[in-house]
Amino acid sequence: MRLILDLDHCLIFSSYSEIENLSSHGKRNYLFLYHRPGLSEFIRKIEKFRNIELVFYTSAKSEYAKWVVTTIDPKINYKLFTRSSTSKKFTEYGELYYKALSKLPLHQDMPTVVLDDRTDLWDPTGVHLIDIESMAW
Ligand SMILES: [Mg+2]
Repeated sequence: MRLILDLDHCLIFSSYSEIENLSSHGKRNYLFLYHRPGLSEFIRKIEKFRNIELVFYTSAKSEYAKWVVTTIDPKINYKLFTRSSTSKKFTEYGELYYKALSKLPLHQDMPTVVLDDRTDLWDPTGVHLIDIESMAW
């Protein structure tokens, strides 16, 4: 099977202000990065299932996303898709980036589970969406 994981507000949270009494997992320019509690253990458990294809899919820009993934440091093989693999739409809330399995150069017929805090921005075709409570302070 395939597991697609969102980054921002799902696995990690980044902020320009440092959060008191919480150690960050990375700092880049003035941006502090925080992992969701238990993230490393979660990724390590996925690693044990050799038949899981791990994919990170974020509407963030590529350079930032690559940095975030290095702080998670998955030892297994993974694929990373970023903003250029989303569809941008202009709405009353500003620019929104929509995700879809069909936007990714992956086999479309593999059972695919998605963890994302914005499942409302997904095309549900071919994926099982699991809505994750948004990580924020
Ligand atoms: Mg998100």
